[in-house]
Amino acid sequence: MMTGEKIYFDYNSTTPVDPRVLEEIAKVARENFGNPSSSHCFGESAAEIVKQSRQQVATLLKVKAEEIYFTSGGTESDNLALKGVVLPYLAQGRKPHLIISMVEHPAVVESCLYLESLGALITRLPVAEDGTITAAQVAAAFTDETVLVSLMLANNETGVLFPLAEIAALTRPKKILLHTDAVQAFGKVEIDVTALGVDLFSISGHKVYAPKGVGALWLRSGVKLEPLLHGGGQESGLRSGTENIAGMAGFGIACEILAVGMAAEGSRIQALRNRLESELAAALGQQLIFHGHRQLRVPNTISLSVPYIDGEALLAHLDLEDIAVSAGSACSSGEHQGSPVLKAMGVSSELAQGSLRISLGRWSTRAEVDHFVEKFSAIVRRLWAISPLYPKK
Ligand code: PLP
Repeated sequence: MMTGEKIYFDYNSTTPVDPRVLEEIAKVARENFGNPSSSHCFGESAAEIVKQSRQQVATLLKVKAEEIYFTSGGTESDNLALKGVVLPYLAQGRKPHLIISMVEHPAVVESCLYLESLGALITRLPVAEDGTITAAQVAAAFTDETVLVSLMLANNETGVLFPLAEIAALTRPKKILLHTDAVQAFGKVEIDVTALGVDLFSISGHKVYAPKGVGALWLRSGVKLEPLLHGGGQESGLRSGTENIAGMAGFGIACEILAVGMAAEGSRIQALRNRLESELAAALGQQLIFHGHRQLRVPNTISLSVPYIDGEALLAHLDLEDIAVSAGSACSSGEHQGSPVLKAMGVSSELAQGSLRISLGRWSTRAEVDHFVEKFSAIVRRLWAISPLYPKK
């Protein structure tokens, strides 16, 4: 077990850095410390690393290397996509219209609130009880001023996948740009970005066994964006700032590792996830409520609610057993509210408060799954026994 005796089932929050990635980062930091903009051999060798890393990311996505722009992560890629498309319209005094869903990541939600404060119009599409959305819903929201649709490929909390290819078939003829926050789908399911048909595509390194602080935005050739960071003109002028070379190199190797056997690894993790779900259901019965579409989701994620128990209490008890999971997804800065994603799916606030996200990954094992089921069931039974809300026979 990679993390000693502890069980880490929170891979959607972040992943451990793969030892092969760590090795590459250390090597690059040691040997390629030059500034890629410098015209001497130190700069040239650093520039070569940047080029190679860009190619590794592009190869996995099946796109051209020059369409990849490195950023500091998913949040920056989302901000750059949304603000980069919309700000020029606002500068011209127009009122551009955007379509997002009610379950987007805060990086998209907050960027939209900011753009709204500057005059943009935002439609926030509801989702069905199983967390899905349809292409028809998107089409029904188009207006003459719609310039951008931004929908996540997979939800960070439930893992539910949105039908981006179908949506792209509708945005394309209307010349409406389509951005997807693919941070949670990337590395979990195979993606051919060109076939998907989107125009902008955000990814993050630390969800795929690379370090925090590096990510990328793929931009279809010809799509114009306003940069957010102005300066030395790195990343073809779209993202100034001396490059995070070691981070980029780590991200590049992480992509190369992902490319090998992704389908087999997906099946392995899916089998573990399914085992975990069915064992929990068998141990705790009908009372457990699983959220999200059963099929249209990434293979590693479980979103569930335990009635009559607060998710935070459950999390604390699991933590005492050295088991790490996540309570909903709204705990980004320590403050805990019921999950907005589950609320958007029509889950009552009591159940949303008692929600947990369990997410598996590269080092998850069957022994961990079985240990988790045993500990989790015992904790839930104990908490139910003392819960004043739990119906006693
Ligand atoms: N988008 C989604 C769907 C995410 O899950 C996350 C991270 O939790 C982000 C964006 C933000 O990525 P980063 O942490 O790299 O800024």
